[in-house]
Amino acid sequence: MRVLITGGAGFVGSHLADACLLRGDEVYVLDDLSTGSIDNIEYLKRHPYFHYTIGRVQNASVTAELVDRVDMVYHLAAEVGVRRVIDSPISTIENNVQATEVVFGAAAKKGKRVLFTSTSEVYGLSTDLPYREEGNIVMGAASKGRWSYACSKALDEFLALAYYNERQLPVTVVRLFNTVGPRQTGHYGMVVPSLVQQAMTGKPMTVYGDGSQSRCFGFVKDVVRALVALMERPEAAGEIYNIGASTEISILDLAKRVKEIAKSTSPIVLVPYADAYDAGYQDMPRRIPDTTKLRSLVGFAPATDIDEIIDSVMKSFLARQERSAQRTPISLRTPVRVA
Ligand code: UDP
Repeated sequence: MRVLITGGAGFVGSHLADACLLRGDEVYVLDDLSTGSIDNIEYLKRHPYFHYTIGRVQNASVTAELVDRVDMVYHLAAEVGVRRVIDSPISTIENNVQATEVVFGAAAKKGKRVLFTSTSEVYGLSTDLPYREEGNIVMGAASKGRWSYACSKALDEFLALAYYNERQLPVTVVRLFNTVGPRQTGHYGMVVPSLVQQAMTGKPMTVYGDGSQSRCFGFVKDVVRALVALMERPEAAGEIYNIGASTEISILDLAKRVKEIAKSTSPIVLVPYADAYDAGYQDMPRRIPDTTKLRSLVGFAPATDIDEIIDSVMKSFLARQERSAQRTPISLRTPVRVA
């Protein structure tokens, strides 16, 4: 198969590119490197079945040309991270909505199979746990910039289902729940890479609020396996699927696990929400997926244990540090103190 991955230089997209190439697919990546990184795909550049274009999905002619070349499109390109969303709501709304319109429009013209990655954020503040695909969406106030992300992704979902019904676009929507693993950066607020980096550099480990809020962390390699499996199932078109792990952990317990596994001496500090983010932030106390629908179609849902996930994120952090040290001229490197 020939596949296009928008956002293919990003965290999830680059793992998906790996998985597709391993299957023998020919992979085309379109990414503007706004939050993705060329580092994530550097080692793929020599692969004979790997092609990449640096550009924006909103550039309709570039996207249409690439959609033409492939059999299916994984549309992942979007704004990421709570911090970035709160800091730049205009680009969040514009990028998420315009890019998706372009992809669906081009794919519908050619009848190409599409998988669109939405987010568990669309469940918003719903307390009807675990979240089921048919459950209600409960948005917070419009004055809280965080919800611009959820609303823009929800609009994309409506658009996907409208294209399926009105223009027969074979599109599947997936809602990703707190996906974590190697290559994810803490720059945009994500908790696992942030805590790992803090623990491994001896900095205070920042737990926001009282740390009792909880999440279920899905391992990226399991998540991309589920994406590929759904893409293979024609009956998944016109449907929405949750993708995530079901084991819940509080953020304070997560910080304790990271500290222990990293054998870190960093203190764990509780940071009031008001100091961590500006007024556009609002947290949700719990978020748990119901993955019955996914499991009954493809036979599995992400289930890698949190300790294994933390271990792989630590290894990825060390490897990244090593690569950047190799790129730094010897004269600028931090001297290593020998006792
Ligand atoms: N969080 C934290 N410390 C950090 C970053 C995030 O305690 O350095 C908290 C955040 O307030 C939220 C949870 O960790 O309760 C997950 O945050 P993340 O941004 O990773 O994902 P979210 O589930 O909010 O989309």
